[in-house]
Amino acid sequence: MKKVFCIGELLIDFVAENQGKNLSVAKEFTKKAGGAPANVACAISKLEGKSIFVGCVGDDPFGNFLLNILEENNVDTSMAQKSEVFTTLAFVSIDDDGERDFVFSRGADKELKYDSSLKKDFKNNMVHFGAATAMLGGNLEEAYNRYFFDALTQDSFISFDPNYREDLWKHKEEAFIKKCMPFIQKSHLGKFSLEEAQLLSGKKDMDEACSFLHETGVVIIVVTLGKEGTLLSTKQFRKTIPSIEVSPVDTTGAGDAFIGCMLKQIAEHDNLETLLESETELSQIVSKANKAGAITTTNFGAIESLPTRKQLDF
Ligand code: ATP
Repeated sequence: MKKVFCIGELLIDFVAENQGKNLSVAKEFTKKAGGAPANVACAISKLEGKSIFVGCVGDDPFGNFLLNILEENNVDTSMAQKSEVFTTLAFVSIDDDGERDFVFSRGADKELKYDSSLKKDFKNNMVHFGAATAMLGGNLEEAYNRYFFDALTQDSFISFDPNYREDLWKHKEEAFIKKCMPFIQKSHLGKFSLEEAQLLSGKKDMDEACSFLHETGVVIIVVTLGKEGTLLSTKQFRKTIPSIEVSPVDTTGAGDAFIGCMLKQIAEHDNLETLLESETELSQIVSKANKAGAITTTNFGAIESLPTRKQLDF
């Protein structure tokens, strides 16, 4: 089975307990582990795949808390780094109208330093670029781009999730698109939300958006559509794969569970070239990943709700 390296941020999400208030009046917060690449690493290891997290936390109690969670979930943290800079913190609340209030205190995630010793481990393995913060500068952005170059030269399977966060990129959308383009050009798998596919392609219509993204270079496109399932697209075919019916209570982490489950299944495949061209096999993989996403919505929190291998009948 191939290893999956997940590069990017691991941070604390402080979620306002008393929903219905904005951050200026919220008094109680719950401390949660956050960061899409870290969630994806946990999603893979909970399904008994091999995931390695590459990212940086502070050398402080929050950093220890975060790395402990990854280790409890059997993620390999040997390539994680600790910095003098404090762990990155995000504060989030949702008001009565569903509006998010968001404050971001960027810290140690941006301190990730490139480590050339990883390059040889990328050979014939998989690398997932899914950081929401990597394009925001700092050492992380430089490390991220250098790891991307290594993944290309080592024939790694490359997966990309742009993880667009409006809170972080308001009025800077063009810069975000420009930074994403090299990844879209060279990825085997691109995972997008509807909004991301539209933003990155500049096309409202999904057929046109997918065609544009394929022409740019990405081989397999998955557009996650919540309860409607997932649009799966290659240059040869395009179809929507339905999800299962669930009663959702919290959708946090559904997209990470979905892509983690796809990567775990791809990692088990011997012949990627045939897989990338097989409509039947890709559809089965997406169908199972839809189930992983759906199950994640049935509990509160992201990592806690990720399904196990048994739950997905592997
Ligand atoms: P995130 O906000 O975590 O980045 P996302 O927007 O990429 O996530 P979603 O579309 O919310 O991802 O969910 C990922 C997948 O999980 C969907 O493609 C779908 O298969 C499944 N899923 C999500 N919500 C539901 C739901 N309410 N019912 C059934 N399946 C769901």
